[in-house]
Amino acid sequence: MYRRVAIIGGGAAAATLLSELLDRQPAQPLHLDWFTGGGAPGRGVAYGTRSERHLLNVRAASMSMFASQPRGFLDFAQRGDRSIAGTDFLPRRLYGDYLEAEVERALERARSLGHDVHVVPFKVDGLVPENDGVTILHGEETTRVDAAVLALGALPPQPLSGVSESAIASGRYVVDPWSFLAKAKPDPTPRKVVLVGLGLTAVDVVLELASLWPNASFTAISRHGLLPEAHLASATAPSDDSADLIEAMQAAPDLRSWLRLLRDAIAHSEDWRVVIDSMRPHTPALWQALPREERSRFLRHARWAWERARHRMAPQVMKQMQELERAGRFHRERARLHAADVEGDHLHLSITPTGSSTPQALDTDLVIQTIGLNTDVRRTGHSLVRQLATNGHITPDPLGLGCNATPEGRLQHDGSTWPHLYAMGSLLRGTFWESTAMPEIRQQARQMADRLLAG
Ligand SMILES: Cc1cc2nc3c(=O)[nH]c(=O)nc-3n(C[C@H](O)[C@H](O)[C@H](O)COP(=O)(O)OP(=O)(O)OC[C@H]3O[C@@H](n4cnc5c(N)ncnc54)[C@H](O)[C@@H]3O)c2cc1C
Repeated sequence: MYRRVAIIGGGAAAATLLSELLDRQPAQPLHLDWFTGGGAPGRGVAYGTRSERHLLNVRAASMSMFASQPRGFLDFAQRGDRSIAGTDFLPRRLYGDYLEAEVERALERARSLGHDVHVVPFKVDGLVPENDGVTILHGEETTRVDAAVLALGALPPQPLSGVSESAIASGRYVVDPWSFLAKAKPDPTPRKVVLVGLGLTAVDVVLELASLWPNASFTAISRHGLLPEAHLASATAPSDDSADLIEAMQAAPDLRSWLRLLRDAIAHSEDWRVVIDSMRPHTPALWQALPREERSRFLRHARWAWERARHRMAPQVMKQMQELERAGRFHRERARLHAADVEGDHLHLSITPTGSSTPQALDTDLVIQTIGLNTDVRRTGHSLVRQLATNGHITPDPLGLGCNATPEGRLQHDGSTWPHLYAMGSLLRGTFWESTAMPEIRQQARQMADRLLAG
C-alpha cells in the first residue's frame, strides 16, 4: 500500500478517485495531497456550468460516482425532488452539486478516520517520476509522494490551422467555448455566429447563446453537417450482452469486418441504440485488439459516426435544436474551414463545401470553435503535460489520443513503465478509446483505489 499519494486534477475523475480512496478502510492512515488547480473542487469543466439548459447526456440512473452504489446520483437528486426518475436527463449543475457533496462527505470521513488530506488549490507545474516515487513541483515548492495520479481532463483546445493570430486577438474567433460561455452575458447585438464543429459542445453553445442573444442566428459547419443522435424518450436496456457480436469482432479486428458485423447486428435488433449501448463494457478490450493502422483508419473514417451514435443528446435537447432550426435561427452546413481572418468589424472565413474543391467566402460577427475534446499531447499548451513530454517522462500516443499507458493506467516512457505514476480519464483515450465519461471513469477510479491500497 502507498502511504503518501497525490491526485492531480480538480474534476470529476479526481473527485471520484478521492472518494473511492477515502471510503475504504486501509490498514494505515493515508497521506493524500489533492492538487485541484483552483476552482470548485470536483466540478471540473463539465459540471462547473450554472446553466439549467445544460443537461447530462447520460440518464440519472447511470451517473453514480461509485460502481458499487449504482443509485448514488439518483438518490441524491431524489432527496431534493421525489418526482425525479432514473430515466431523466438532469442538469449538469445538479451533478456538480452531487460531486461537491460527495467530496465534502469523503473529507469529513477522512478526518474521523485520521487520514491526513490536503486540498491544494493550485496547479502542478512539473513532475519528476522515479523508480521509488514521484516529486511534484508547484510554484516554489516540491512535494515527494509514493505515487501520483494524473486526472487532468481534456487538454486546452488549440486553434485550427488557417486561423490568423489577429482573428484570435480580436476576440471574434473563440478557441475555448467553455470559458467563453462562462462569461457570456445577455446581448441584443450579435447577429451572425458560426460554429466550427457539430457535436454536443456545439449544441450546448447554441442553446445557451440563442437564449441570451435573441437576435442572433447560428450556422454550424462540419464535414457531414449532422447533429449528434438523440436518446430514445424511454430507456432501452440492452436486450442481451452482445456476446456473439463481441466474439466475432475480437476474431476479426479490422474496421471493414467490424462495420459489416455491426450492420448485421443492427439489422436484427429492435433499435440500433441497443447494439451500440451493449458494446460499452467491451469497448476497451475491442480497442486494444485493434492494430494501430486500423485504429488510424477508424479515426479517419468512422470516428465521427461513432461519436454521434455513442454520445447522444437528451430527447428534449434534440427538440429544442429542431425548434431553433425550424425558426430559421440555426443552420447546418457540410463544409470545412480553411481560413479565418479579421476584415473590418467582422471575420472573413474561407470554407469548402463537402464534395467540392472550390472555396467559398462566409462573413460573420463571431466564430466559436466547438471541435470536441483535445487529447493531443504532441502539440499542447498544457504546461504540466508539455513538461512531461519534453523531458521524456511520458510518450505521446502516436494517434494523438493522450499518452502511452498500461491497462492499469501506469504511464510509459521510451518503452518502459513508471511503477508509481498513473493517469485516469482523457489521457488514457489511446489505451481504452472510451475513457472520458462517468460510466468509464468510475470503473477506473475503483480499480485505481484498489491498486493504490493493495499490499
Ligand atoms: C460539456 C461536457 C459535458 C459532459 N457531459 C457528460 C455527461 O452528461 N455524462 C458523462 O458521463 N460525461 C460527460 N462529459 C464527459 C466528462 O468529461 C466527464 O464526465 C468528466 O467531467 C471528466 O472529468 P475529468 O476530471 O476527467 O476532467 P475535467 O472535468 O476536465 O477536470 C480536469 C481538472 O484538472 C484540472 N487540472 C488541469 N491541469 C492541472 C494541473 N496541472 N494541476 C492541477 N489541476 C489541473 C483542471 O483545472 C480541471 O479542474 C461531459 C464533458 C463535457 C466537456
